[in-house]
This record gives sequence, C-alpha cells and structure tokens, in this order.
Amino acid sequence: MLKILKQQSKHEKIKLIKQVEKIESIESVPNHPSKIKLEADIYSGACISCTFPTCIKYHSNEVKNSLTDMFSSDLSEYVCAVDAIKWPSNLDTPLIDENSCINCGVCALRCPIGAIYLTETHAVVNDNSEIEYEIVEINENSSIKFEEQLQKLSRVPRKGTLILESSHVLETQISKIVEISRNSNFVNLLVRNMMISLGVDVSISRQGDVYNRIDGVTRFDAGFGIVEIEIGKDALSLPRAILDDIAGLVSMHQFNLLELHPLVIMLSLPNERSEYWRVIKDIKKVIGLEINTITLHVLFLLVWNLYDNVSFLKKFSFDNLFQSNRVILENEIGRKLNIPIGLYGVIEAEK
Ligand code: SF4
Ligand code: SF4
Repeated sequence: MLKILKQQSKHEKIKLIKQVEKIESIESVPNHPSKIKLEADIYSGACISCTFPTCIKYHSNEVKNSLTDMFSSDLSEYVCAVDAIKWPSNLDTPLIDENSCINCGVCALRCPIGAIYLTETHAVVNDNSEIEYEIVEINENSSIKFEEQLQKLSRVPRKGTLILESSHVLETQISKIVEISRNSNFVNLLVRNMMISLGVDVSISRQGDVYNRIDGVTRFDAGFGIVEIEIGKDALSLPRAILDDIAGLVSMHQFNLLELHPLVIMLSLPNERSEYWRVIKDIKKVIGLEINTITLHVLFLLVWNLYDNVSFLKKFSFDNLFQSNRVILENEIGRKLNIPIGLYGVIEAEK
C-alpha cells in the first residue's frame, strides 16, 4: 500500500489536523480561502498535502458511469480539463497556473478541506492556515490516519459560494476559453467534469472516437439526456446532430423516442433572430421533440453555488418566445443573478 501511495504523491509528508472531529462547517468564500469553523474559532482552509490529491485526479470509480457499456466514454482521470493544476515535486502543495485556469471550480469543490478558492480570474491553492496540524512522514500508520481524517471531513457540511458572477468574471473567463479552444479540444472533458461535480450520471465520448457521433449521454429517472456540445459559432449544426443521434438510438438500438431528452450546451446562445431557434421550434412542432439549450455558464453557476440537484437537466426548455436560462437558474440557486440581461448570450440570447 505504501508503495502505491508514494507513486501517487511525490511528496513525503502529510498534515493531520488536530481536533478534526470538531470541525463544524467549511464555507467557501469568493476571493478568499474558505472558512473552517472549529468550536468558537474560524480558520482558513489550507492544503493538507493529500496522499491522493483529489484536486488533480479522480479515482477510477468516480469517472465510471452506468452508460459506459452502451456508449463510448472518456474515462480520463484528470480533474482539470485545461491541465492548469499540477504538483511540482519541489513543493508541498499543488500549484495552479493562473494563465490557463478557467475558474471552473471543479478542483475547488473536490478539495476535502476547502484549500482551493476562486479569485475573479483563476483558482488558488492556499497553503497557509493557523489551524493546528501535525506534519508527519507518509507511512502505513499515518496513511490510515489520513484516510480517517478524510472520512471525517467528508461528513462536514459545505456551504457558501466559490465566486460571485460579474461582468468582469465572465469576460475574463470567456476570453480564456476562446483562446485555449484555438489549440485544444478540452470542452467535452470540462462538461463531463462539471456534470460529475453536479452529481450527474454522465458519459462523455472520447476525443477522436470516430465511431461515436454523440458528444454525451446522461441518465436520469425519466430517461436519457442526449448531449451535443459546441463552443464555436456553428449553432445551426446542432439540431441536425441531435436528430442524427436520436435517429441512430431509436432505429439501431431500439431506444424509445419518448425517453430521450436532447440537451445542447453552448458557450453563448445564438442571438434572438438566429435560425437556430426557428429550427428547434419546428422540430418540436413536427415531431414533438423538445431540444433544451443551456450554456457552459449554467453549469459554471451551478458549480460555483455548490448546487447538487441533477433534476436541473430536465428544466431548461426554450422556444422562440423564451430564450433565457435566467428564471430557472435564479429559482435553482435562490437569488437574482448579477449578470446584465443579454451579456455575452450566456444567460439569455442577445437581441
Ligand atoms: S489542494 Fe486540497 S485536494 Fe489538493 S492536495 Fe491540497 S488538500 Fe488535497
Ligand atoms: S478551477 Fe478549473 S480550470 Fe482552474 S485549475 Fe481548477 S479545475 Fe483547472
């Protein structure tokens, strides 16, 4: 066991928090390390140098899903879709490259002690806290104690918000996404990882799998979500891609049309006059198939607000009269969004 642990972590020491069983809550705070409430005191969440850094990697059972046998599935164990978080061998904690981090929040949600927080532009690993630790060498005994510590931390209530949305936060994030997408096809992995964070049973297809046309499939009580993802400008290709997906599933694999729920995920919604809205309205009128459309920012906002109710996948539905994610999203997170109407088409279509 020790040998395996040392392969997974390049560092030699871990931190055992004294009185870990007395931690009452971990609260995420925008722009600052999370607040750890321990009896009457508040400490900042700081890295405990995990033996297996869940901020960087998934365990293989976390990326498996109930759809793997039916669909091509990307089982990559990377938490960061843009490879921004690494653990240099000379450091005691992981490090995040601020230029490539797109502030998705996935690594922050996975840190058991809330050591990763989001600023307006990127995530940061905090390595500085006054909470009392014992710093110990990794060995069989300390590894068992560390596992027990993780078990205790997993039962601590998490609350708060990773980052508050604003025009500045969105502008920085969108320009990074557009820039990185010129050289890297990371968006499918990003969607998969955000959906895993939201508790969705999801299979996203492997990059370059030419035998699989469907970008992704999700499973929920009422059937399957058929997912197509596009962050470029080719919105009009998406209804056709969805129809292709569904025709294949119904004709070749005997799926029931009524249990298939299409979901298109874009960087920004096509503007109100786009043919896209007319086409999906026609599809609904002619064959009764409702194509739901959301943006990456719907997923970002749910992750940022520590949301964990997968039923949202069924709630986003639009037609030419109502091209907005706002009302449903505000209901889900329980407050008004701090994003001006129409901004970048991330919540509602621009005019
Ligand atoms: S940042 Fe969090 S998850 Fe990553 S090694 Fe540190 S404590 Fe563990
Ligand atoms: S916030 Fe997202 S993009 Fe940034 S390091 Fe974490 S996982 Fe990667």
